Amino acid sequence: MRKEKILIGIEIPGLGNGTHEYAFSCTAGDFSDPELIEPAFNGEIGVHVSAEKTDTEIVIDLETVTMAELSCDLCLAPVHRKLVGRFRIVFVFDDAAAAAGEQNEEYRTIDRNTVTIDLTEDVRETLLLSLPVKVTCENYPDCLPTSERENGPESSSPEENSAWKDSLEKLKDKFH
Ligand SMILES: [Zn+2]
Repeated sequence: MRKEKILIGIEIPGLGNGTHEYAFSCTAGDFSDPELIEPAFNGEIGVHVSAEKTDTEIVIDLETVTMAELSCDLCLAPVHRKLVGRFRIVFVFDDAAAAAGEQNEEYRTIDRNTVTIDLTEDVRETLLLSLPVKVTCENYPDCLPTSERENGPESSSPEENSAWKDSLEKLKDKFH
C-alpha cells in the first residue's frame, strides 16, 4: 500500500480553459490522520471540486460535506450534524505569478509542467475546519444560549440576550 497516494487531485494536462467540476467520495480513514477519525467523521465524505482555469491560473473551490457524530459540549447528548466545509485556493502558473500580485485567497504558484494538483491535504484541512468550535444540542434550555450566540448578535432580541446572559452566569457557576 502506497502511503503517498493522491486521494483527491486534478489532472492538469489537457485541461482546457473554463470551469470543470469534479466529485470525489472518501472516508476519514483514507487520510491516515487520527485527528480526522477522532471527532466523529465516521461516514462517507463527499468532496466537490470546481476548477476554473484561465491562461494564467486555476482557481479551485473545494466543498466537503459529511455527517458527523458530535456531542453537546454541555450535556454530552449526541448531536448528529451535517458539516459543510469550503476552501478556495488560487494556483497561479509560475510564468504569470509576477503579474498576479497580492490576493486575499490562499495563493500558490505552480509549474506549467505540473501533472496533478494534489488537493488531499487541503481537503483534510477543510474537513477539520468544518468542525464547529462549539457543539450544543437543542434538548435543554441550558444548552441553547451558545447556539444562539453562534448565530450572531443581530439574530437575538434583547430579551433573548438577557436570558442568554443569565444562562452564561449559571454556566460560570457550574464550571468555576
Ligand atoms: Zn446539550
